[in-house]
Amino acid sequence: MVTELLGADNLSKAIRALKDGEVVAFPTETVYGLGADATNSRACQKIYEAKGRPSDNPLIVHVLDIRGLESVVAGAMPKTARVLAEKFWPGPLTVIVASNDTIPLLVRGSMPTVALRAPSHPVARELIEGVGRPLAAPSANLSGRPSPTRAIDVWQDLQGRIPYIIDGGDSPVGLESTIVDCSVEPPVLLRPGFIGRETLESALGERVLLPEAGTPHKAPGMKYRHYAPRAPVIWINMREDHHIEKALFQLKKEFPNMALMAPRKWQRMVPESFLALGDTAEDVAHGLFTGFRELDDGNPDAIVVIWEENDHGVGLAVANRLGKAAARFVKQEGTARQVRK
Ligand code: AMP
Ligand code: MG
Repeated sequence: MVTELLGADNLSKAIRALKDGEVVAFPTETVYGLGADATNSRACQKIYEAKGRPSDNPLIVHVLDIRGLESVVAGAMPKTARVLAEKFWPGPLTVIVASNDTIPLLVRGSMPTVALRAPSHPVARELIEGVGRPLAAPSANLSGRPSPTRAIDVWQDLQGRIPYIIDGGDSPVGLESTIVDCSVEPPVLLRPGFIGRETLESALGERVLLPEAGTPHKAPGMKYRHYAPRAPVIWINMREDHHIEKALFQLKKEFPNMALMAPRKWQRMVPESFLALGDTAEDVAHGLFTGFRELDDGNPDAIVVIWEENDHGVGLAVANRLGKAAARFVKQEGTARQVRK
């Protein structure tokens, strides 16, 4: 299959392709998505095939607004879903509700629930509006690879496997959406994201729980290895410079060709293959996946990341993505918490 790169200024070709049951990769504010008509099983099957995605890993359905949510929810709308959608849509937040049969089982990984989000990115919105139906769209990467935040990332993973990629520039957030399961009470944060747990709790006026360890069925897809570049990722999760220095020395012996993603001051340790992580968790969130892909291009024998874990705001999301990408963790005994994998 020949893959055509489309500009974001004229979406008529992409809209026609989507209406015809084709898949199209497009930018959203979180990451690039691989979209298809969410009401068309055959079209959505192509998403799973192009990504090599396991069929029990459900897709997020993209709608324009709360009316899109109302049209697929089965029974009464949970109050939590309504409040969150009113407060954070359009934006990087996905809610899970009981599903009526508008959305095929294939899209839902055979679950009785459906995940919905209203994106704010103008290209995504124009596509949903133009097609006139909700669009199922997971991240537009090969399954298991870091999510794409630029059209070139999609191209490198899916070129020859999908007909169209729309280039709409960098995804501003750089991490996938926050996912809240509103089909249960109290609601559960299934995947941390740009919108932090505290922000959700203050909007709802109630606790938002973390998934219990050992209940993977609640967050299908979370059980798979995710977000990983080809080189093994080693996460140095430490605070004090002298500990970090020691860890880097050791790792350099084992991985003479390692690449490093860290605050600027560590550049001197690996000057030949270094990428500066910003200072805030938002910066790290924005640069993490792009950084994995950039450093991977140099064929390092390991990608080492220095970042001290925290669970405030987007920090929880960064810890979650790094925890899933990492093949090895380096931390001080008795200090850092065990990372939830
Ligand atoms: P992605 O689109 O690649 O960001 O992944 C979407 C993720 O959303 C999946 O891996 C699931 O964890 C979650 N998800 C989607 N639909 C549901 C659902 N009906 N119930 C629970 N989680 C869901
Ligand atoms: Mg994904």
